[in-house]
Amino acid sequence: MQTFRCQCGHKLFFGSTSCVSCDETVGLCPTCRNVTAWKSFEDGLWQCTNRACGQKLKLCQNRIDHKACNCAVAEDEVDQTLCHYCRLNQVIPDLSIDGNLVKWRRLEAAKRRALYGVESNGLPIGDPTRNDYLPLRFEFKEDAAEPVSTGHAGGLITINLKEADSVKREQTRVEFGEPQRTIVGHFRHELGHYYWDLLVEPAKLDAFRALFGNEQDPTYSQAQSDYYANGPKPNWQSQYISAYASMHPWEDFAESFAAYLDMTSIVSTAQSFPRISADVADGDFDAWLRTYREIGVMANEFNRDIGLLDLVPEIFNKSVTAKLRFMHDLSEIPVHSPAGVSSSSGS
Ligand SMILES: [Zn+2]
Ligand SMILES: [Zn+2]
Ligand SMILES: [Zn+2]
Ligand SMILES: [Zn+2]
Repeated sequence: MQTFRCQCGHKLFFGSTSCVSCDETVGLCPTCRNVTAWKSFEDGLWQCTNRACGQKLKLCQNRIDHKACNCAVAEDEVDQTLCHYCRLNQVIPDLSIDGNLVKWRRLEAAKRRALYGVESNGLPIGDPTRNDYLPLRFEFKEDAAEPVSTGHAGGLITINLKEADSVKREQTRVEFGEPQRTIVGHFRHELGHYYWDLLVEPAKLDAFRALFGNEQDPTYSQAQSDYYANGPKPNWQSQYISAYASMHPWEDFAESFAAYLDMTSIVSTAQSFPRISADVADGDFDAWLRTYREIGVMANEFNRDIGLLDLVPEIFNKSVTAKLRFMHDLSEIPVHSPAGVSSSSGS
């Protein structure tokens, strides 16, 4: 993801809710699609400070009540209290259960990122509050008497809440031998099934079958039981983007769709960063740190695109900077031999 600029000049990120430099309320403006500072306006409204935009905004109710969103509703959407991402939720987790709020916030952050990506690629999102074409809806559920399967059916994307638990997610990743397993990856995959229903089946079925195979033969349930009994197709690497994609043409499409969104997201991030020169003189600590921070911001955005942890998670405040400078200066301290021991080698 590109980074954004606050009105004070400080960097803002896709998930920012306030500016760490000027303390202004910030968020994702649904009109200009930038993360911008919002000025308090009359009647509880806010105004996007992007001069080319200036949209009057209402805070999304999920932001006010749960800090689960950083987006807003445009003023003219008078009957809406939730932003266009949050209003797609049909079921949210039971927030009276300890830990669920934190997990839900993670799901929402990944959902916003995945949806922002499909919007950036010009794909439509059916809004259930507008009686739209195949409305897109989400439900976030926990295993109870019935286990919850992450999946898609008729525009409804179900995500098992345990995918927001990083320990459980890593266990599952190892169990299934996957190279990566991320929340944003789940959203992208399930959105692939949604777009198959919305766009491919009605208009491009023949072209789909020529490339991915006939989704009727074998049936999905037959393909699924074959896959879990016998594993992926032998030599799947020669034809599929992942082992799971070899299960059935629908999964092949969803896996390929997710990979396509990964690609467009990573390449857009690369476009937004000017080339970084890592040409630093040995003794110039400030240049080293400045370059490291620039690379860190860029690499973090690449990792966030895919849903991985930040490469450089640290914040280099004054105190930390002074300590790192101390390390840098260690090489300038002459080495004193302990008493009685010669520092010359070979003694
Ligand atoms: Zn600021
Ligand atoms: Zn705006
Ligand atoms: Zn929202
Ligand atoms: Zn799938």
